[in-house]
Amino acid sequence: MTEAFGSVFAPLMSICHRRDGQWSPVQMQPSGSLTLHPASHALHYSSSCFEGLKAYRRSDGGVHLYRLDMHIRRMQNSARLLMLPVPGGDLLIEMIETVVQQQLDQVPDFPGSLYLRPTMLGLDENVGSAGKPSATAVLYVLASPVGDYFGGGDKTLRLLVDDKNMRTTPKFGQAKTGGNYAAALRFIAGARAEHNCDQVLFCPNGDVQETGAANFFLIKDGTLITKPLDGSILPGVTRDSLLHFGRAQGYRIEERNYTVSELLDAVSDAECCLSGTAAVLTAVGELVHEGKTYRVGDGKPGPHTQRLRRALSDIQIGNNPDYQDWLRPIKSAD
Ligand SMILES: *Cc1c(COP(=O)(O)O)cnc(C)c1O
Repeated sequence: MTEAFGSVFAPLMSICHRRDGQWSPVQMQPSGSLTLHPASHALHYSSSCFEGLKAYRRSDGGVHLYRLDMHIRRMQNSARLLMLPVPGGDLLIEMIETVVQQQLDQVPDFPGSLYLRPTMLGLDENVGSAGKPSATAVLYVLASPVGDYFGGGDKTLRLLVDDKNMRTTPKFGQAKTGGNYAAALRFIAGARAEHNCDQVLFCPNGDVQETGAANFFLIKDGTLITKPLDGSILPGVTRDSLLHFGRAQGYRIEERNYTVSELLDAVSDAECCLSGTAAVLTAVGELVHEGKTYRVGDGKPGPHTQRLRRALSDIQIGNNPDYQDWLRPIKSAD
């Protein structure tokens, strides 16, 4: 697959509306367009949230969703923080399962997958409602067949270590909401233009947090080190998976705060990687701080990152019998 991640869509999406305190029945419609009133709450006051999860095709041909329950809880938490109507778990399961079940032919073989994007927008039509939650909303699940995010190569990332700016606010970092990405965009664009970096590692006041769209790990002396969930960072499902099976594989786990100076002191003899549904685990080759470039290890994907990435992919495509309860099989529609 040569298209950029997320720009090709399956023909159908599932959709439903919240009106008069009720969710409408779930319908399927073409992924092409959505009609919104120009005064819709989400368009002005960013009452919008989303999720990103994947359906994988196993080697036996079957299809399953990876850690659906965690994604559903996180979507509900995002909706709650935005004071949007909180969709029930059963509704979200129905919408996500239906979109996959009715388009099983859209699920590519591994290393491809069907990326699913549940999205909710506040629809109250009132530009005077900046201080009032939206009681109406649209909820839909887009599906996008994706290939191997980084083409499977030896690519490593170059990150700008920003020890001044925050990605978002201390408590809103846990919400998967559009405004957080808009707020971070100028820092990421600046890092690209001025430092030739792929992304920004946000470290406000020296506290190592995460990048614009993925969690961050330091791997040192058999230990996986990552910031604890304190509301400021996104509680990544990939992060959680890595902590669970990393421990089972014999790594020490340290969920703790650590500083830019500890990070920069460690990297010549360590590995760093990003974790996320889109990127799985992506190695970091260079960190840039105050105009100086720090090479991470030898600058190539390290052995721990590669091993953990393979192990994680094995779990995601159903090859590890110990993690079957993280998978939800999709029955074919007939
Ligand atoms: C989605 C996201 C992640 C990764 O979460 P996963 O559940 O692992 O995909 C991390 N950080 C940010 C800011 C994100 O938007």
